[in-house]
Amino acid sequence: MTVRHTPMPMKAAAPRGLITRIGATNPDADTYDDDRDIDWIAVERTANGDYNPALLNQAELRETAILLGRAGLRERAISSRLSVYERRIGEWLATAGLLPPERICSRDNCGHVSTGRGLCNSHLQLKRKHEKRAREAAQQTQNLEVAA
Ligand SMILES: [Zn+2]
Repeated sequence: MTVRHTPMPMKAAAPRGLITRIGATNPDADTYDDDRDIDWIAVERTANGDYNPALLNQAELRETAILLGRAGLRERAISSRLSVYERRIGEWLATAGLLPPERICSRDNCGHVSTGRGLCNSHLQLKRKHEKRAREAAQQTQNLEVAA
């Protein structure tokens, strides 16, 4: 087992004690998830701003983001605290059900965070492609009418 703790210079004053100790109410709680490789102590300390997020794996970063989202932080704040793209934080919060319905893609059963016009990035690209094809078809029809 490797000890992953290194002292971390604080970039900005982060509110401490935001997240209560995981397993505080249950001293027998397991602080390590073998299946998903999650060190819950590292997650908790990162959420509270006294552990370097660069030392976390993706699963731990995701859980930290969800904890911070549940504590009321918005994507931008979580993004800068964890040094993870805001869009990815949004996806994590969306899959955890922490975003309001208007922030979720309006296509049926999509579930991804909406990036514009009520759609997620891939559905928005599809919509734009369809619109472009429709414009080109209309233009061709117009050209044929002029030529006739
Ligand atoms: Zn979508």
